[in-house]
Amino acid sequence: MKCVVVTGIPGVGKSTVLNTALAKAGSKFQVVNFGDKMFEIAKRENLVNTRDEMRKLEPEVQKRIQRLAARAIAEIAKRENVVVDTHCTIKTPRGFLPGLPSWVLEELKPSRIVLIEASPEEIRERRAGDETRQRDEDSIEEIELHQAMNRAMAMACAMLTGATVEIVENRTNMLEEAGDKLARCI
Ligand code: AMP
Ligand code: MG
Repeated sequence: MKCVVVTGIPGVGKSTVLNTALAKAGSKFQVVNFGDKMFEIAKRENLVNTRDEMRKLEPEVQKRIQRLAARAIAEIAKRENVVVDTHCTIKTPRGFLPGLPSWVLEELKPSRIVLIEASPEEIRERRAGDETRQRDEDSIEEIELHQAMNRAMAMACAMLTGATVEIVENRTNMLEEAGDKLARCI
């Protein structure tokens, strides 16, 4: 079965673009949110109360939960085509943690990696307007660096898997266009 990985830094509008794309692409895919899977596990172990606390856990703990989540998603991918909503890198207090290290890629075997991007200014605004999450208040330069790290990571993942890499821009007031492009990628 096919696996497409969709990534983008927090606040870029990844889940919103993904929902728009799925409405267009029909129901050929099951969307699996990597963060949801990790949160289920982390909550069960009483490690966190909210999903935004997970990236503050010790890297070794995050990686253990990450591995379990990847395995659970691989089980789903045996039966159906999946789109995995996740991150190339996670910005943690101890540096950028790879969201797609080799052991995650070995489980998911993605054929394509899509990066949802926007301008740092747009991302900052979207984060500030999101009351539902505890988003980081990064500067424009920090957001730029995070997106650059994600591009580098996406190509490193392509090296390991042969996956193709696509970039979809999510410009303000152009959600339909972003959704159309993503629908063509998945
Ligand atoms: P999200 O809802 O996409 O922002 O994801 C919530 C949280 O799940 C992130 O802040 C990370 O802590 C965690 N997460 C999601 N995907 C991964 C991944 N591939 N590797 C490690 N942590 C992840
Ligand atoms: Mg999301």
